[in-house]
Amino acid sequence: MATRTITIVGAGQSGLQLGIGLLGAGYEVNLISNRTPDQIRNGAIASSQCMFDQALGHERALGLDLWPDAPPVEGISFTVAPPDAPGVKAVSWAHRLDAPAQSIDQRVKFPAFMEVFSARGGNLVFEDAGIAELERYSRDSDLVIVAAGKGEIAQLFQRDDQRSHYSSPQRALALTYVNGMRPREEYSAVNFNLIPGVGEYFVFPALTVTGPCEIMVFEGIPGSEMDSWKGLAPAEHLENSLRILKRYLPWEAERCTEVELTDASGVLQGRFPPTVRHPLATLPSGRTVLGMADVVVLNDPITGQGSNNAAKCAAAYLRGILAHEDAPYTDDFKQGLFEDYWAYAKHVAAWTNAMLAPPAPHALQLLGTAQENPQVARRFANGFDYPPDFASWFMSPEAAKSYLESFTAVR
Ligand SMILES: Cc1cc2nc3c(=O)[nH]c(=O)nc-3n(C[C@H](O)[C@H](O)[C@H](O)COP(=O)(O)OP(=O)(O)OC[C@H]3O[C@@H](n4cnc5c(N)ncnc54)[C@H](O)[C@@H]3O)c2cc1C
Repeated sequence: MATRTITIVGAGQSGLQLGIGLLGAGYEVNLISNRTPDQIRNGAIASSQCMFDQALGHERALGLDLWPDAPPVEGISFTVAPPDAPGVKAVSWAHRLDAPAQSIDQRVKFPAFMEVFSARGGNLVFEDAGIAELERYSRDSDLVIVAAGKGEIAQLFQRDDQRSHYSSPQRALALTYVNGMRPREEYSAVNFNLIPGVGEYFVFPALTVTGPCEIMVFEGIPGSEMDSWKGLAPAEHLENSLRILKRYLPWEAERCTEVELTDASGVLQGRFPPTVRHPLATLPSGRTVLGMADVVVLNDPITGQGSNNAAKCAAAYLRGILAHEDAPYTDDFKQGLFEDYWAYAKHVAAWTNAMLAPPAPHALQLLGTAQENPQVARRFANGFDYPPDFASWFMSPEAAKSYLESFTAVR
């Protein structure tokens, strides 16, 4: 088989992982990045990037588990905090994950993966790709994949109105990377707090450019008091984070009496509409390019799935490309690669979109039952690792009813 050349635009979670996987299988790979490693390392944070075991497994398979000593995330805790009764936990439970999760700041991870990519023979090119560049890549390569995340170039791919659930941003997002937080007792976890009508706050340990840290994630319902981040300087952003915790989540504020920002770039705020796009974009020449990960399935971060999805999408595309051997890369083939991934990702999107809506009665009942029944707590916690599991017990009143009845039946 003649060596095939694949060009990937975007050296983020999915692009780097797929590029490194293809190199291992003998492909020639060009990886296009609009940021140098130094620009990434010294730039702003972009994510909280907590990855669960299956996604980490795809990295392990490629020898990309480079931070064995990073702080582990060992469990999930879930609390409902009524906004009019500060200090009250209407529901509260925690459960260990079957295997730990991990968050490596993308400012640490991407430059390290770029180094691996180059060391294994990849061709890393620094340029900001637009239509003219895509035309050039598609002339010179057998396949062009666009893995540019939320980059403007993703707009080349049309929104899929059937598969997209929302048309506007559902949360005002904010991240605050801090040092000095009191660790959670017993075991480390994603502490997820739901404040009905206001938003969500979750926090967990991670590894950043300055070493171990904790990442605070705020998901404010638009117009609520948690939608209050625009135009703040880093110190004000930290102050606002602490103000919200004191007002709604005193148990989280108590952990934060000594916190400080990890660095001046350790804050982020923004919002975007969750969007599913058609996987093929047609260039003026008539040639097509294939979208990957956030370019084609962009979810709100409320369930912490974007990097996990990116890793799983890269693994699915790698599998599909290798299985295709030296057959031509037709549009049907490209569409099929995406459809295989969508068979998984549609469950992640459905669960994430449900978590953005006011909780359905059956979901509240299940999350309440988890407080007394550790089997329910364990199942919810491990759903973060494999969200398609939710379809059979969490996503509809009927599924919830028969799941709950299964406990009474064995008693
Ligand atoms: C607030 C917030 C919190 C999050 N928390 C989590 C979490 O806890 N867990 C989780 O799993 N996910 C989380 N995510 C989502 C996750 O970070 C993304 O889904 C994931 O990084 C997407 O991977 P990707 O490969 O599609 O794109 P990215 O990792 O974003 O990589 C895209 C790359 O392409 C480059 N690029 C863009 N345009 C061009 C161009 N024209 N030419 C060349 N290069 C280009 C960019 O510079 C970037 O490096 C979070 C996101 C946000 C916003």
